Amino acid sequence: PSRAEITYFGAGPAALPTDVLEAASKALLDFNGTGLGIAEHSHRSELATNIINEAKADLANYLEFSPENYEVIFMQAGGTGEFAASVYNLVGAWVSRQQAAIKNELGDSADEEAVLAALRKKVETELKVDYIVTGGWSLKAYQEAQRLLGPEYVNLVADARTINDGKFGKIPDESTWKLSKDAAYVYFCDNETVDGVEFPAFPSILTPDANGNGPIVVADMSSNILSRRIPVNNYSLIFFGAQKNLGSTGVTVAILKKSFLPPHTVQPSAPLLRKLGLPIPPIILQYEIIAKNNSLYNTLSIFDVYIAGQVLKKLLKTYPDKVDGQQAVAEKKASLIYGALEAHPDVYRIVPDKSVRSKMNICFRVTKNGNTDETEKTFLKAATVLGLTGLKGHRSVGGIRASNYNSIPLEGAEKLAKFIDDFAKAP
Ligand code: PLP
Repeated sequence: PSRAEITYFGAGPAALPTDVLEAASKALLDFNGTGLGIAEHSHRSELATNIINEAKADLANYLEFSPENYEVIFMQAGGTGEFAASVYNLVGAWVSRQQAAIKNELGDSADEEAVLAALRKKVETELKVDYIVTGGWSLKAYQEAQRLLGPEYVNLVADARTINDGKFGKIPDESTWKLSKDAAYVYFCDNETVDGVEFPAFPSILTPDANGNGPIVVADMSSNILSRRIPVNNYSLIFFGAQKNLGSTGVTVAILKKSFLPPHTVQPSAPLLRKLGLPIPPIILQYEIIAKNNSLYNTLSIFDVYIAGQVLKKLLKTYPDKVDGQQAVAEKKASLIYGALEAHPDVYRIVPDKSVRSKMNICFRVTKNGNTDETEKTFLKAATVLGLTGLKGHRSVGGIRASNYNSIPLEGAEKLAKFIDDFAKAP
């Protein structure tokens, strides 16, 4: 089939807007009449720096956060690399804060050994990182924190499986969350791509007070960034891979509160971390280093930043009210698809609880004549014939998953909703 005949509902990499790809294919051969393609130009060229700076500014403009307070960092770590980066950088920031507090308490004349002893004690007795586990991806992040730091430092705030027969699909009530006192950070995944679970709003228990004081919050927004308004000021760190709503696979973005960067926060040295028995970050995962170099500490894929930048420009052009405009469309598309599923409860079972249904990854099971596996195979085959592809659920959970990312046009969602209805009615 041709590209125009397909609506691709894959979970990531996701489809990209055709006009962006058309422009990109030209840019690959010759970027702006330079005779050299965008993937060939030096990442140290002025042209590359402009692409980075424009993408940073457009991201802040679209999501409406202040570049004065937040740094945008491009990396190649993937969402998975950010699981580790969040541990290293925010535990490092915690160590720096504790060290400063101890020095303050002991006075300028305190010797280094006394400071170190006090710091060791603090690490042993007070260091905690908090994880809210609501699906496969936050589980992976939690496990990575345990692996890097040691399980004794990692607090499981809530495990969604405990309230849903061992499966993901709900978010435990905030009143049951076991938050640590003064955790180095609290981590959650805003949209669980595999399980179709999305936080309906920013957790109220983590909301800062009127003076802006609150927990240090980290969120993985790999699969719902740019699809809904987010209160960026409530977060210390937001990260996401580009390959769903932003662009092509190969670039990962971190939006980091500037108070976690020099001159406000300086990461502890490797010898100090070694003395404290804490892990030493690979330099490539240190936000401080990458930010200082405007994301060019090492060779960055400028092509991928360019694609992300073009997607942002298109979003800004399409939606004068920025992310709110895209959010309205995302909600409309999701309600069309969920509506079609709900109309046939005898055939379709939506996996997550209604209160936490993702607008990006719509997970459901299909059963006719008591047979789910066979029916789902038939469903996928019939959908493919109509050009509705990429609908197979994640291998770990099975079923059907329609990823309703920004690049799916309203007509694509309409087509899928109609197919869902027709398939249920067919004998
Ligand atoms: N977090 C979420 C929510 C994801 O959906 C994914 C991948 O699909 C990841 C993290 C891992 O990202 P990556 O494959 O870029 O490491």
